Amino acid sequence: MYQYQNIEQLHKDLKNGSITCTQLVQQYIQKIKEHQNLNIYLEVFEKSALEQAQKVDADIQQNRFKPLTGLIVSIKDNLCYKGHECTAASKILKGFVSTYTSTAVQRLIDAGAIIIGRTNCDEFAMGSSNENSAYGVVKNPLNPEYVAGGSSGGAAASLAAYLCMAALGSDTGGSVRQPASFCGVVGLKPTYGRISRWGLIAYASSFDQIGTFTYNIEDAAKILSVIAGPDDFDATCAEIPVPDYSKQLQELSSKTFKIAYFPEVIESDGLNPEIKTALQNTFENLKKSGHSVEPVHFPLLKYLIPTYYVLTTAEASSNLSRYDGVRYGYRYPDAKDLEEMYKKTRSIGFGTEVKRRILLGTFVLSVGYYDAYYTKAQKVRRLLYNTIKDIFKNYDAILMPTTPSTAFKIGQKTDDPLKLYLEDIYTVLANIVGVPAISVPLGKSSENQLPFGIQILTDSFEESKLFTLANTLLKK
Ligand code: GLN
Repeated sequence: MYQYQNIEQLHKDLKNGSITCTQLVQQYIQKIKEHQNLNIYLEVFEKSALEQAQKVDADIQQNRFKPLTGLIVSIKDNLCYKGHECTAASKILKGFVSTYTSTAVQRLIDAGAIIIGRTNCDEFAMGSSNENSAYGVVKNPLNPEYVAGGSSGGAAASLAAYLCMAALGSDTGGSVRQPASFCGVVGLKPTYGRISRWGLIAYASSFDQIGTFTYNIEDAAKILSVIAGPDDFDATCAEIPVPDYSKQLQELSSKTFKIAYFPEVIESDGLNPEIKTALQNTFENLKKSGHSVEPVHFPLLKYLIPTYYVLTTAEASSNLSRYDGVRYGYRYPDAKDLEEMYKKTRSIGFGTEVKRRILLGTFVLSVGYYDAYYTKAQKVRRLLYNTIKDIFKNYDAILMPTTPSTAFKIGQKTDDPLKLYLEDIYTVLANIVGVPAISVPLGKSSENQLPFGIQILTDSFEESKLFTLANTLLKK
């Protein structure tokens, strides 16, 4: 079995004929079947993947190579792909078949990639452990007693179990970076608006961003160069031209950076001491290599989680109102009247966490509470934005942990949603402010041998810097 962990090697082998795309797809399909116990894939697109592979093979015969020729990619179950089921891991969308393809997925296909299947996730991308999926929890391939993280748990696990070569996920508050950290792979959340959200099932529209999982930075750069950029179908997608990230990654490789870290984060109570030590060692090593690493005070840390959960639940309550049993997926079959149909459809169709968030979001938007919660949180969002933008006037990057701890045991945090919300303490900042962030594997815990990541943030549209620094850390 070939286990490709970078596009360059794959292209060498496809060029010299030691493997065909069709063989590759067959091997992955077989391997996915052997790992069904991990519950990573909700569906394997066997037929369309093999059809795509044949087309790509025909192109290769003609010596026609594209940037992502033959790349086997999994997509999170909240990305539309025409003619394929897409459920956002919810019962309410069971049986829903996409009528169009999301821009990011289409651009992957146009660049020669092959979509192998859709991966499990938390329902409507709400969660940090993949335990909120209507289709069961994803097990961490590194130790199946532990969670893979969430909400893109299946996506991260699909790489950790070598069941594809790259994955698309979505990141509203950490859903790419946190599972990447738990599964020991690279997880990128680009700048808000860098990748079109057309065809991504909305959770909190002003936070949502498609992100990638890869084994290395070069592949993340190659994929981003393909999927980023303006799109007529998404007005929030930036008009800013897309650079050749791979080229810039090479050009910047010897640059030294001015890096900030927040002492409040390093000293925070919940942070696992081993992660803290690993970060401090990293800071020292970076200094030795000529980078500057300085503390910058960030007293707003405690406002991140409340701001995130007020604003995202508000947006979710509005976005999820479209699941009414009339237009999509599940409809309660025995209703006496319209009102009962709505009520029963939504009560049965949505899971507990999704209902909790719709209620919370409706509450913070309701007359009488709007100013106290929603408006207030918007003001804090602006304050956070200004604070971070000011920091980026003087620094190239901010470094912090991706998560307070390594993966936890399945079931360990299910009784208390607040405990789970605190998992997101270090990741939500990038989404609140809209800047890009990446998680790169940093070390392993001596207690459970599970990995943890380090997170890098840069200013908006500075993904090239992000990649360069990430590469330095990954290759240390
Ligand atoms: N864990 C966070 C939440 O539950 C982030 C989710 C996400 O990024 N989609 O909202």
